[in-house]
Amino acid sequence: MDERERQLAYIEKCRELYEKKVEELGRKLSFHVTTFGCQMNARDSEKLCGILESIGYVQEDEEEKADLILFNTCTVRDNANQRVYGHLGVLKKYKRLNPELKIGICGCMMQEKTAVEKIRKSYPYVDIIFGTHNVFKLAEIMYHSYTSEGMIIDLWEETEQIVEDLPVDRKYSFKSGVNIMFGCNNFCSYCIVPYVRGRERSRRPSDIVTEIEKLVADGVVEVMLLGQNVNSYGLDFVKKQKNGTLEEDVEVITFPELLKRIEKIDGLKRIRFMTSHPKDLSDELIEVMKNSKKICHHMHLPLQSGSSRLLADMNRHYTKEQYVELALKLRREIPDIAITTDIIVGYPGETKEDVDETLDVIRTVQYDNAFTFQYSKRTGTPAAAREDQVEKAQVQEQFDRVLSLVQETSKARTALLEGQVLSALVEDVDEQQEGYVTGRLGNNNCVHFPGSIALIGSIVEVKLTKCMGFYYIGEMV
Ligand code: SF4
Repeated sequence: MDERERQLAYIEKCRELYEKKVEELGRKLSFHVTTFGCQMNARDSEKLCGILESIGYVQEDEEEKADLILFNTCTVRDNANQRVYGHLGVLKKYKRLNPELKIGICGCMMQEKTAVEKIRKSYPYVDIIFGTHNVFKLAEIMYHSYTSEGMIIDLWEETEQIVEDLPVDRKYSFKSGVNIMFGCNNFCSYCIVPYVRGRERSRRPSDIVTEIEKLVADGVVEVMLLGQNVNSYGLDFVKKQKNGTLEEDVEVITFPELLKRIEKIDGLKRIRFMTSHPKDLSDELIEVMKNSKKICHHMHLPLQSGSSRLLADMNRHYTKEQYVELALKLRREIPDIAITTDIIVGYPGETKEDVDETLDVIRTVQYDNAFTFQYSKRTGTPAAAREDQVEKAQVQEQFDRVLSLVQETSKARTALLEGQVLSALVEDVDEQQEGYVTGRLGNNNCVHFPGSIALIGSIVEVKLTKCMGFYYIGEMV
């Protein structure tokens, strides 16, 4: 029996236990999942929900009413862990009120031994703990929790295993995230991800294409290909091929080649991807984007800092000049591309002159949008151990400089499109204005325009009549 079949068998076993419980209680059991962190976690939560619904559980919006509360944690910042501990205290009360309640914690934070130890000692009423590598095992873990006493802890330090085709409950019917790889090999000095998500593992191209074909058959028109560094997709296969450990039926292709295959899927209208590490962004990828009819002209290209000195210290493997050259090449080759970025202010040892370099890059690249963060010490990373942490007041002062320039450039970029007619995927009704819907443009900006709920999931042409700073008001044409 392969791992997928084993897990489907556990879903079946859990379903039998679940049905007995339903009979005993005279009501259905419900679950509530809280997701912290990035898009990878959001996608993992969809998988968790899919498994729970296959067992029979129903989603409950109010946490205190649920019979299973699951936290899918993030650990990118130290204070994220504190929030989880704080909330676990509240759950103790719920457990007294509902003897059926099970509490589970999973995700990145659980890959840290100290966090698991703390939960074991201080929060003994938690029922299940598992990590990032074995999300697919939820039914098996639940089964053990139902049939034995005490806390079930199932943690893997690493895995090569990728289990395909288990149930997923997608948040949106018309768009979906698709993991193309897991883990990260880069060890940027401030980041905990490689320690908690393990080394890069690519999914087989055929599995990715099959998953997308099924999604399209189910009504999906847009996919977001997910990976910590999508540009290094397939490199783990190349390495294995060289040392003779690659399984025979695995096809070795690059990320641009994968994009070309996905482009051929009939019925799929839009392709997005994130995140692209600048050090691995190839000319081949730019060429494929340029010639594609489906890949959105949006590139999220994290800069982090404009100072080559700090970039070396961060272990980013590019200089300011290399980054700028790459961004300008993107603008030259694909003139309507939107470039967005991540910037950290206050990295250990950062001076005002370093921030001047960052401002210089912002001015040159003219970002369409930028997520600007104040450096936050992450225990367990090399940067956290540095003694030259920057004073809070100085971080704030430099952060304000960066933020104000970023806002200025992104407003100017947004204004450039006023008056144009562009395609928008209608994602939701506009909560702020009755009779309006919200659509997402290829460049990732939003446009609000008059329309009905029936438009959700369709791609329509919209004239951007008025730029409102970072979004538009429009009308369908
Ligand atoms: S590329 Fe760097 S910042 Fe991104 S996940 Fe990997 S280590 Fe973290």
